Amino acid sequence: MADYDLAIIGGGLNGISVARDAAGRGLRVILLEQGDLGSAASSASPRLIHGDLAMLERWAFLRVRAALAERDIWLRIAPHLVRPMRFALPAHSEERPPWLLRSGLWLYDRLGSARNLPGSATVDVTHHPIGNALKRPFGTAFEYSDCVVDDSRLVIANALDAAERGAVIRTGARCVRADRLATWRLVVIDRGRRQVITARALANATGAWTASVAEIVLSMPPPRAGAFQISHIIVGRLFDTDNIYVFQNVDRRLVFASPYIRTVSGANMGVSSRTRGTASDGAITFDARRGKAPLLTIFGGDITTSRLRAERAVSKLAPFYPMSPRWTANTPLPGGDFEWARFEAEVDRTRERWRFLSEAEAQRLVGAYGTRVAAVLGEAKERSDLGPAFGPELSGAEVRYLMAKEWARFPDDILWRRTKLGMTMPPADREALGAFMANAHV
Ligand SMILES: Cc1cc2nc3c(=O)[nH]c(=O)nc-3n(C[C@H](O)[C@H](O)[C@H](O)COP(=O)(O)OP(=O)(O)OC[C@H]3O[C@@H](n4cnc5c(N)ncnc54)[C@H](O)[C@@H]3O)c2cc1C
Repeated sequence: MADYDLAIIGGGLNGISVARDAAGRGLRVILLEQGDLGSAASSASPRLIHGDLAMLERWAFLRVRAALAERDIWLRIAPHLVRPMRFALPAHSEERPPWLLRSGLWLYDRLGSARNLPGSATVDVTHHPIGNALKRPFGTAFEYSDCVVDDSRLVIANALDAAERGAVIRTGARCVRADRLATWRLVVIDRGRRQVITARALANATGAWTASVAEIVLSMPPPRAGAFQISHIIVGRLFDTDNIYVFQNVDRRLVFASPYIRTVSGANMGVSSRTRGTASDGAITFDARRGKAPLLTIFGGDITTSRLRAERAVSKLAPFYPMSPRWTANTPLPGGDFEWARFEAEVDRTRERWRFLSEAEAQRLVGAYGTRVAAVLGEAKERSDLGPAFGPELSGAEVRYLMAKEWARFPDDILWRRTKLGMTMPPADREALGAFMANAHV
């Protein structure tokens, strides 16, 4: 008998979402990630949970509606990680005319089903706070609702759930060879040690490595796919409102400027050169030739539709295994068992229990761990119970939790992915964190 029903190569959002879905349907799953979970594209996203307004111009109404339905699901299952935001879309005389923007947003409101997110509105920027950050000649802007997400924590939350449902998650484990017979035989270099693993099916979820893994590791022709690039420019904070601004570039692309971690603002710019054959909401291919073990390939796409993509991918294996029904749309991710409208109440509850926390600290902790904050803070009565401090916000207790439960091995895993505290941590504290982690026995 093979060691596992499904082996997944790649611990980005696509791979980890497949692991969660499959483990919850009763499959014996192993996921292999050569570095840290979410360390590649999945922590470099525009962080948007949205229907993709620009898709309306391509008449992709069904796709927008499906993505907006996923937005509702994320608000339900990950209320700690996903946050509704108001987006500001200033109208400029040399870009799309205001009537076109207004009609597009009217349609966008109707395609969405989240009745509790405020609808779009027209704003006179000469009198509205949105206008404070804008130069003339913007006169009118439109506001609409969408969401943002902590992308790398979304990966971790999915990984936690997968692991709690029995999936084996291995970081620092590189798959260097996979031979396809009636089962898959994988050669893995796991922290320097060579291992052989067998699995009944394989998923290649290696993002930008998909083609090279197909050719070099699987010895198969690569899928027909094209890469596209996205740029983030992080600058000192330029505006005080909580809106995300959406600017129209002269070539009709959209540029996002978002407030990010309190002290800096970021701009995301999508530069897309998608080739034909690569659906912009991601691609799944399934190869189940007679007598050969099944191969799933899943790549691309945005965060918003990652849950659905994984559900569709795993469903392709249904003819091969007894499997329980689809489940991920209705089951909260770890820490997400509360309503998003009660986020502030959850913050208050946290501050009542751990009275030494400031409002900002409680906001960050609930935004990262949701109702599982107790797993980080334990029975601490005062700040000193949390152990040494690294920078103003990170405690020894949190570092220990992240190492013990969330696969953190190195300072960057914590500073840039489990938290975003790398933005503000002084160099001396970084060094102290490295020394603490090297000596921590968890
Ligand atoms: C250019 C770009 C554009 C994007 N555009 C959007 C967008 O428009 N909207 C949006 O919401 N999001 C966007 N995203 C982010 C989106 O989150 C990703 O597309 C999504 O997370 C897909 O991740 P993935 O799991 O396929 O790949 P990744 O997160 O890159 O994960 C692949 C993983 O495979 C691992 N791996 C590779 N080879 C091996 C091996 N041999 N053994 C073990 N592990 C291996 C890698 O280390 C990596 O961690 C974009 C990201 C990028 C970089």
